[in-house]
Amino acid sequence: MKPFLDDNFLLQTKTAEYLYHEHAKKMPIIDYHNHLIPQQIAENRMFENVTQPWLYGDHYKWRAMRTNGVDEKYCTGNASDWEKFQKWAETVPYTLRNPLYHWTHLELKGYFGITEVLNASSAERIYKKASELLQNDNYRVQGLLKKMNVELACTTDDPVDSLEHHIRIKKDGALLRVIPAWRPDKSMAVDNAVIYNSYIDTLAKVAGIEINSFSKLIESLRKRHDFFHANGCRLSDHGLEIFYAELYTGSEIDSIFVKIRGGKSLTSDEILKFKSAMLYEFAIMDHEKGWAQQYHIGSIRNNNTRMFKSIGPDTGFDSIGDFNQAILMSRFVDRLDKENKLTKTILYNINPADNEVMATMLGNFQDGTFPGKIQWGSGWWFLDQKDGMEKQMNALSTLGLLSRFVGMLTDSRSFLSYPRHEYFRRILCNLIGNDVENGEIPSDKALLGKMVEDISYYNAKNYFNF
Ligand SMILES: [Zn+2]
Repeated sequence: MKPFLDDNFLLQTKTAEYLYHEHAKKMPIIDYHNHLIPQQIAENRMFENVTQPWLYGDHYKWRAMRTNGVDEKYCTGNASDWEKFQKWAETVPYTLRNPLYHWTHLELKGYFGITEVLNASSAERIYKKASELLQNDNYRVQGLLKKMNVELACTTDDPVDSLEHHIRIKKDGALLRVIPAWRPDKSMAVDNAVIYNSYIDTLAKVAGIEINSFSKLIESLRKRHDFFHANGCRLSDHGLEIFYAELYTGSEIDSIFVKIRGGKSLTSDEILKFKSAMLYEFAIMDHEKGWAQQYHIGSIRNNNTRMFKSIGPDTGFDSIGDFNQAILMSRFVDRLDKENKLTKTILYNINPADNEVMATMLGNFQDGTFPGKIQWGSGWWFLDQKDGMEKQMNALSTLGLLSRFVGMLTDSRSFLSYPRHEYFRRILCNLIGNDVENGEIPSDKALLGKMVEDISYYNAKNYFNF
């Protein structure tokens, strides 16, 4: 029996141990997509206790707590930080076989050197020890990232964002590079005329352009795109249920925009056409500047109306959708390819049933200009765990080139979730190690060591023009 979470955690063979300890472990982290709060990095915030960086905003933990019968008061409500921690600690033993159990203990070990398992009886000791450590200067947020060897992190930012915190981070000479990413979802969210117009009013103010036509809308967004570029942004991100790839004419889009700008609701047909036009225009901007574009597709969000009304989005009420993805994705990417305007692209699915669809879609649009130009993103959200990562890497190996994969990203809101890169690297090394032991790939240390270092770090470093 192997001890729980020892140095060879998840590494089942000698080759896996060698690849992880000699090659994967030492590589810095390029976390090219996350949801960290730039202001906290700029202020190099110190947390008062471990609940703040660990449980605030972590909807994975809240879902587990709710499932375990814990009242909302201890998840997002007004219970004290200690009480919230206590309820989480009581829940942890019930998370066995859920990735939360692994993440929790990897995080306690990686940041705080705590190897005791978390449960009701260890809760107070662990809370005290971790919270005390967080009072040290090197446990401020930049120190936490540095401790995990994070070289560069990309946040997720709205086009109207002033990027003041990114500018300050750069000016102050932070311990790592922090770069914005362009996430313009709100500028195409025409489902609700009132919310949309209020957003466009803000955009108009920020861009200094009166937005009364579609061309003015695009001009404003382009101005913000230029501003993001000047501040180091080199990639975009879109959260979509499906790709929008309807046929439309320019005059149709002009009148749809005038209609919604006048406060009138759009028909579902108009909404689809408008979103198709926007998605295309964004892809053109990204191509012009040589950015990479990311598409996260297939989730259904805010399923629980009662909870949405009470605590808003991103609180743990989203799940895997079952849309048909292949045809629209193909049509969208093909249009860009046909016009010679397809930039580097990363596609992420949330439904594992789409795995092979994604893995084969890539090959349609690789054009020999850059290795792995079209990427299939690492297991995302509900698939960001051992089973999901193994399935993603197995399908990518079988139907594409695993060696050209840009690898892991946290997609996280917490400064304490960086051991997910370690988790990913161990799983990667283990897959390769098993193949070597089975005689399915050669035991070529140089070849395999390079492959592991590339997927852990160099592929991402070379892919993005940061
Ligand atoms: Zn994300």
